[in-house]
Amino acid sequence: MSESQDCLFCKIIAGEIPSTKVYEDETAYAFKDINPKAKVHVLIVPRRHYANVAELAKADPAELAHIAEVAQSIADKEFHGAYRLVFNTGLDAGQTVFHVHAHVLTGEKLDE
Ligand code: 5GP
Ligand code: ZN
Repeated sequence: MSESQDCLFCKIIAGEIPSTKVYEDETAYAFKDINPKAKVHVLIVPRRHYANVAELAKADPAELAHIAEVAQSIADKEFHGAYRLVFNTGLDAGQTVFHVHAHVLTGEKLDE
């Protein structure tokens, strides 16, 4: 079985598991986090499976830059362009899904 067949976010991207879509294009998909940590909490994922941000940066730096642009556009709509962008990387940093995802936290003033 390939990595992606067993991956929660690959299944969400494929529409096999429902999600609340915020944005999509040819290479990226953005959806609401099921357990929001801010008024607006969106996850942005590349459609292609990479385990974490370091793998993505190495294999496809343009896609990492694209994810940053998508984050900015979501925050422009939701909260005058202010947001926090987080990539938990590794179990001990709280990564639970091993398909790279950017957490976009916005929609309200965030605690420091
Ligand atoms: P991590 O802990 O790996 O950085 O982030 C995984 C995120 O995915 C968590 O914030 C969690 O709430 C979210 N999540 C886990 N399962 C699902 C799901 O089935 N649907 C959605 N929309 N979010 C999920
Ligand atoms: Zn995946």
